[in-house]
Amino acid sequence: MAVIASGTDLLPRMKKRQVSPSLLLDISSLNEDLRYISQSDGTVRLGALTTVADLLESPMFDDRLSMIKEAARLFGAPQVRNVATVGGNVCSASSSEDLIPVFMALEAEAKLVSVRGSRTLPLKDFIVGKRKTAIRPSEIFSEISFSVPQGHSWTAYEKLGRRNMLIIAIVNEALSLTLDDDLRTIRSARIALNRVSGKVPALAAKTNGFLEGKKVSDETIAEAQKVLSSELSLTSDFRGSGAYRTELARVYLKRLLERCCVKIGGPS
Ligand SMILES: Cc1cc2nc3c(=O)[nH]c(=O)nc-3n(C[C@H](O)[C@H](O)[C@H](O)COP(=O)(O)OP(=O)(O)OC[C@H]3O[C@@H](n4cnc5c(N)ncnc54)[C@H](O)[C@@H]3O)c2cc1C
Repeated sequence: MAVIASGTDLLPRMKKRQVSPSLLLDISSLNEDLRYISQSDGTVRLGALTTVADLLESPMFDDRLSMIKEAARLFGAPQVRNVATVGGNVCSASSSEDLIPVFMALEAEAKLVSVRGSRTLPLKDFIVGKRKTAIRPSEIFSEISFSVPQGHSWTAYEKLGRRNMLIIAIVNEALSLTLDDDLRTIRSARIALNRVSGKVPALAAKTNGFLEGKKVSDETIAEAQKVLSSELSLTSDFRGSGAYRTELARVYLKRLLERCCVKIGGPS
């Protein structure tokens, strides 16, 4: 059995016989319950059937959370954005999905519901491998939630593909950065990439740990780039070699840190 939301990922895979579910559970008519964007007490909640176009239209993602709109703008083409859902993107658990690194950098949580109740788990634990999630056969994914970064914070997103529309990411990388009151010291850095080990999207845990407490400087960024290279274990395919992807990830790390610092008003 497979859940189908809009089918923009599932149907092409079924046509290519990559998956052959014996039964499809169509949840697209649950729009009233599962299509929403809300914020209360500093927590943003996105229903599973929220579309990428909905993200682009929401004023909630104009400031600190602007990486959500950056990712949405680089997503597919208008026809895809109008129907592709947040839930479908996260549950695809693929290394080319745009929203997974964005939500991981925000330390988002996935909510799963079944007739027996609901449970919530960190997105980093929900994605357990290439196209593998921790969802049980009796569950559907109902919501993603995350805290709005507080204090001197900003978020940014970078993606490279081989064309300007319908871009399948060679590398995509998201950063949520918070500086201390001195606007120089990194209080927290959450970098996530569509590939960290092989084809599995994940947080760059070592690099995040390295950056915490460091003063922003050219030296810190150069050191962080080395740590990032050391923790990536990237594979090659027809879109790019592992070495090329690693180099891109290093360049994006510098660019993301600089972009966030400029927005926060820290060193540039
Ligand atoms: C032309 C084209 C361009 C694309 N461009 C991009 C792009 O730029 N960036 C990008 O990230 N993706 C892209 N995609 C992939 C796809 O559009 C996205 O992954 C989309 O978000 C999937 O959402 P969906 O509603 O269509 O999911 P579906 O195809 O319906 O489902 C995808 C998977 O998630 C499962 N699933 C869906 N919803 C739930 C749920 N609520 N609970 C449990 N399981 C669920 C399904 O069983 C299936 O395994 C593109 C696809 C196409 C065809």
